[in-house]
Amino acid sequence: MEGALSERLIVPLAERRDHCGYQATPGHPPRPPHTDRHRPIASDQDRPQGSAMIEQTLSNNFHEIRDAIRALCAEFPDEYFRKVDEQRAYPEAFVNALTAAGWLAALIPQEYGGSGLGLTEASVIMEEINRCGGNSGACHGQMYNMGTLLRHGSTAQKEKYLPKIASGEWRLQSMGVTEPTTGTDTTKIKTSAVKKDGRYVVNGQKVWISRVQHSDFMILLARTTPLADVKKKSEGMSIFMVDLHEAQKKGLTVRPIPNMVNHETNELFFEDLEIPEENLIGEEGKGFKYILDGLNAERTLIAAECIGDGYWFMDRVTKYVKEREVFGRPIGQNQGVQFPIAESFIELEAANLMRWKACELFDKHESMGAQANMAKYLAAKASWEAGNACLQFHGGFGFACEYDVERKFRETRLYQVAPISTNLIYSFVAEHVLGLPRSF
Ligand SMILES: Cc1cc2nc3c(=O)[nH]c(=O)nc-3n(C[C@H](O)[C@H](O)[C@H](O)COP(=O)(O)OP(=O)(O)OC[C@H]3O[C@@H](n4cnc5c(N)ncnc54)[C@H](O)[C@@H]3O)c2cc1C
Repeated sequence: MEGALSERLIVPLAERRDHCGYQATPGHPPRPPHTDRHRPIASDQDRPQGSAMIEQTLSNNFHEIRDAIRALCAEFPDEYFRKVDEQRAYPEAFVNALTAAGWLAALIPQEYGGSGLGLTEASVIMEEINRCGGNSGACHGQMYNMGTLLRHGSTAQKEKYLPKIASGEWRLQSMGVTEPTTGTDTTKIKTSAVKKDGRYVVNGQKVWISRVQHSDFMILLARTTPLADVKKKSEGMSIFMVDLHEAQKKGLTVRPIPNMVNHETNELFFEDLEIPEENLIGEEGKGFKYILDGLNAERTLIAAECIGDGYWFMDRVTKYVKEREVFGRPIGQNQGVQFPIAESFIELEAANLMRWKACELFDKHESMGAQANMAKYLAAKASWEAGNACLQFHGGFGFACEYDVERKFRETRLYQVAPISTNLIYSFVAEHVLGLPRSF
């Protein structure tokens, strides 16, 4: 199994080289140019040995998943992510190593070449990457898109896409929902897909669509019935699998958006893009309902990533305030320093409980929109507070790129806005959980 996985990975991995001088060798995570003085480099026997290894890790409360991800991440120390951030590059070697070890196929059923794990385990993978100082934002898309394809794709679609995604030959990292003129008001999207002679013709525009340049496929939400012709505004939208390489030859234009974090994200312009009819996922008109599964998975995974960030900030700040001496004593001896750190830790622990709850409900296929939103809200807030304390108590050194605090601070700040803003979570809880009058 491991050999077959490595063989299938040879072509795409050899082609996928990042701009930081790293190149993944199938089955062997690449060696970084520097070692991290804070973390030991894993020995050969600590390295993940392919997706079969993941299957063995289920029975013991995820310690083995955590250890394996930590061993892999040790090959990509702070210097690696700092350099990738500085160059605004994509962490290609890191994503390749995760793929080669089978981690990004965690949610794909075994019959299609994956590990058949749940969102709970996927969330542990994402959490650990961030806790080790990395940024799962470069590769979490495949995890949350998987929910949409697995739950609503046809057998033919699963047979076509899943084995190649599991092997690492294809990446499904993008989801196109947000539009410039409608923002969070998703049911008003204007991108249309009109059925014509066995295909759909797509016109419109999307914004902030991430990882398009490092993905082979994207799940696209478009209106197939005009808003004026549907009974409920959530009806009449459909989702499609878009082959990004084909699409860019015939109607899709991709324009990158430089931004505050090193997040590859883009504006997309569709001009008479033709999508084969068989790329429709599920039933026409039910796309909004389907994509909610993906969005809930995304919010839950991002909650776990924020938990990982939060613990990273805790590790760094507690170490620093114990060592840094000012006025003749460690700064961590002052209660004014201790209390914000303790408060952040308490909030992180509490947020983590909601994250596990959301994961559990998702994996049981139970309704979990409220928990996904609340987990994301609590975790994003906790990681932001932890980041703030970490930056503050590093004093001036927090602003030095060398300490990585400012990078992680920027990275975790994103999650107050994306994939859903804090205000919209309040609104969801007020109106959909507590039954208050609808404001929109
Ligand atoms: C780096 C990055 C990556 C992203 N990746 C993707 C992606 O891959 N795919 C994708 O589809 N989208 C993506 N997004 C889009 C993201 O999901 C949206 O930016 C987010 O949902 C907010 O939408 P908006 O930017 O249109 O803000 P708007 O909807 O314009 O809202 C702006 C602000 O106004 C406030 N607000 C709006 N309406 C209300 C209201 N009714 N009540 C109270 N307050 C309100 C909120 O505070 C909100 O933050 C990404 C965004 C970023 C920044």
